[in-house]
Amino acid sequence: MTHRIQLESGESFAFASDEDTLLRAALRAGLGFPNDCGVGGCGNCRFELISGAMETLWAEAPGLSERERKRGRRLACQSKPASDCVVKARLADEYRPEIPARRLAARLDAMREIAPGMGEFVFRTEAPARFLAGQFAVLHPPGVEGARAYSMSNLPNEDGVWRFVVRRTPGGKGSNAMFDSLRVGDALTIDAPYGRAFWRNDNARDVVCVAGGSGIGPITSIVQAALRDGGPRRIHVFEGARTAADLCFRKLVPEEAAQLSYAPSLSAEVEGGAWAGARGFIHAHVEAHAFPVETTEFYFAGPPPMVEAMNDLLVLRWRAPFGQIHTDKFF
Ligand SMILES: Cc1cc2nc3c(=O)[nH]c(=O)nc-3n(C[C@H](O)[C@H](O)[C@H](O)COP(=O)(O)OP(=O)(O)OC[C@H]3O[C@@H](n4cnc5c(N)ncnc54)[C@H](O)[C@@H]3O)c2cc1C
Repeated sequence: MTHRIQLESGESFAFASDEDTLLRAALRAGLGFPNDCGVGGCGNCRFELISGAMETLWAEAPGLSERERKRGRRLACQSKPASDCVVKARLADEYRPEIPARRLAARLDAMREIAPGMGEFVFRTEAPARFLAGQFAVLHPPGVEGARAYSMSNLPNEDGVWRFVVRRTPGGKGSNAMFDSLRVGDALTIDAPYGRAFWRNDNARDVVCVAGGSGIGPITSIVQAALRDGGPRRIHVFEGARTAADLCFRKLVPEEAAQLSYAPSLSAEVEGGAWAGARGFIHAHVEAHAFPVETTEFYFAGPPPMVEAMNDLLVLRWRAPFGQIHTDKFF
């Protein structure tokens, strides 16, 4: 049954699929509904329900505080209209999707382990894989409540190939279901593309890409786009992992290129061991390089503490222009 969603500011759209959320239906309709992670973690898609019935999918989603919940705030990514509704949200052009998301029937074509507990999943769809390098898809791992975001690690293509690097989160339901419940040939719906931390080719600035853990997925996609688009820019890739066995970038992008430099740093390698490279957290390794912020674009993805440390470095200490910082926090 279709419900009409009216925004207080005047726009309206149809909520036509029971599989959607308020946020995804708004983005599918091409509206600039504020959003970021799409899975309940960031709180960027807050709104108020003025009238109508709205189901909440995940009542404890960390993107809202208890205080906000009591004040009637809701998350559009965790809300499903159950009637015609009027909602209050501040739309903005910067959130208008470049490519409206579609739900596509996919099959798992291949899966390989690229590091302990880290897998590359390759899916195939009949339709072309349309996304911007660095964006993510919303997947429903089999047998698990709720959706999970996974970033494409390849480039958009006409062949319908979608690659994802997924890390087994200890005790995590969705990521473990990807490894344990999906077999080659199985069907899964890919709902994509989402996300704003995508590759920008509208300037010739140098590029600094920083990945922590499975953040290497979208960073690999961005690096490939930067290499594809060429130009005079230099591309600096920083990868943070615990041990040498956990590093993935060279397995995903084996080719050397004159404009590409790669600097890994390991947080769990002991002094005096076999590892001769940098040690410690990756953001500290980036800081040691002191890039000129006016002429650099920054892309980074990974676990929340790494993303927060990078934001502190770029915003508070280096005072990098906001428009040159593109990031995904893996809630
Ligand atoms: C933009 C973005 C891109 C990401 N890209 C990648 C990637 O490329 N590779 C990768 O390995 N990880 C990625 N992640 C992280 C990934 O989405 C999962 O959080 C991670 O795999 C852990 O999920 P889990 O189910 O194993 O852990 P769990 O601890 O079971 O769940 C973790 C997350 O799942 C969601 N969740 C949990 N319960 C519910 C529920 N009842 N209803 C709805 N949602 C729920 C929440 O977002 C929660 O934070 C990304 C995250 C974001 C936000």
